[in-house]
Amino acid sequence: MTRRVEVVEDILSANDHLAAQNRERLEAAGVFSVNLMASPGAGKTSLIERTAAGLGSEMRLAVIDGDLATSLDADRAAAAGAQAVQINTGGQCHLDAAMVRRGLEELDLSQVELLLVENVGNLVCPSAFDLGTRTRVLIASVPEGDDKPFKYPGSYHSIDVVLLNKIDLLPYVAFDVKRFLHGVEVLNPSLQSFLVSCQTGEGLEAWFAWLRREVAGMRAEVVR
Ligand code: MG
Repeated sequence: MTRRVEVVEDILSANDHLAAQNRERLEAAGVFSVNLMASPGAGKTSLIERTAAGLGSEMRLAVIDGDLATSLDADRAAAAGAQAVQINTGGQCHLDAAMVRRGLEELDLSQVELLLVENVGNLVCPSAFDLGTRTRVLIASVPEGDDKPFKYPGSYHSIDVVLLNKIDLLPYVAFDVKRFLHGVEVLNPSLQSFLVSCQTGEGLEAWFAWLRREVAGMRAEVVR
């Protein structure tokens, strides 16, 4: 039992070491980076497509797409105009810092201002692995139910931003936005939240405005 605990700790500390290197590399290149986490089907790839369409003309965007086996999502990101790299995890339920490092090697970071890393769809494993991104964003969606912050506190606790996607479905689904936001606030009072629909585009302007501010802040840091 003790041995197993030690092995898990070693894996996590090796990951943290690589994550720190990724972070240094991204910060030095002035890239604002986001680890996008969500359950399958919450809308990670749709948000990437919308973001590429909304911001692609004003900033250079790259995507590292983590998936179990296919390149379907990276293909969608590339079709939306982003530099896209596919990382297949070979069945592993989350990205880790070593995989992101391989992705970074395939990108010309001097040509990137915003990097979106699409993690594997799942609300448990990704939260334990720092990838070295500046920010962690969780996408929740209306059909998943308003109890998810209460059921997956580990994921909600370690993030900086939550987007509630598919708000166009609110009239049809028993989802209490107040209960959801209350759960989020109890776990993480400093969290930024955005209510959006990647289907209709509602609410996305506030998300874009936030990204614009963060990317500009990053540029200013590099200039100093
Ligand atoms: Mg996807």
